[in-house]
Amino acid sequence: MKRRIKKQVYIVGIALILVIVFAIFIIRYINYRSTNTYQLKKLGYQKQEIAVIQKLETNQIKQIIGMEYNQSIIKFIKEKYFLFDNLERYLSYQKQEKDEDFTHVVSIVNVGADHEYYDKDFVTKTKTDLKDENLILVNKFHYLDKDFIPKDIVDIKNWYAYGENAIREIVYEQFLQMHKAAEEEGLKLIITSAYRDYEFQESLWNKYRRQNGIEWADSVSARAGYSEHQTGLTLDIITSGEGGGMNTFENTNEFKWLSKNAHKYGFILRYPKDKEDITGYAYESWHYRYVGTEVATKIYNLNITYDEYYAYYQKEIEG
Ligand SMILES: [Zn+2]
Repeated sequence: MKRRIKKQVYIVGIALILVIVFAIFIIRYINYRSTNTYQLKKLGYQKQEIAVIQKLETNQIKQIIGMEYNQSIIKFIKEKYFLFDNLERYLSYQKQEKDEDFTHVVSIVNVGADHEYYDKDFVTKTKTDLKDENLILVNKFHYLDKDFIPKDIVDIKNWYAYGENAIREIVYEQFLQMHKAAEEEGLKLIITSAYRDYEFQESLWNKYRRQNGIEWADSVSARAGYSEHQTGLTLDIITSGEGGGMNTFENTNEFKWLSKNAHKYGFILRYPKDKEDITGYAYESWHYRYVGTEVATKIYNLNITYDEYYAYYQKEIEG
């Protein structure tokens, strides 16, 4: 009798353990099915690809789970200047342009150049943010109002400039230091254009439009509100003598010196060579923008345009 009871207890015990083990297994399996890893695997992502996606934030991973498998997503995430919020635009720009260069696609989209210049709907969302102060961005997607007049504008002495020019005080101070350093090397920097107000730009662009139409006017001049010269943070710099003018400035020693030293005084070359599709402007060896020494040095070392810097670093700081 005792033995039979013992046996029954034994069987019940075993059964109970089996049920518990099975239950644990089921729960674990259900849990596993709800994990990101499982969901991504189901979509077709490989182990290494999943590892790349797992580095993103939780809500971002969920968004990718909601999309179809796409190998390009992994390649974009690996890009240095990848911004998650732009992912869908990277994918659609690449599809539409058949551009296989991921780095290039990221640059284009980050700066908004997947839109037409002056795109009305886009531009209303990307108006120049004045909170950025010395780091404000003005380009073909970011504009200043008609009544924007920079503070502390001072006149530039004739000794340093052709014609009458004015610029923000901080820019002038830094330019004077830069001018002095260049002079010690036997070089002469001359300002040919500095602060330009809205009305000036408006009449300039209108003049071009009347001459040859909108398309041509846009190719040679910024529209009113979209010129960086309205910020009071921009200088066009050339030199004296033969070949010192704008179109040949890049061949001068002054230009070579600026290329190596301008960032030390807080200036960057704003429209570098072969970056037209990112900046919206053809190469301008004479156009320098003041951003302060820290940012200028960073941009110099990273070798990127200001538009790219702003999209990735400045905008991300603001959140
Ligand atoms: Zn300029």
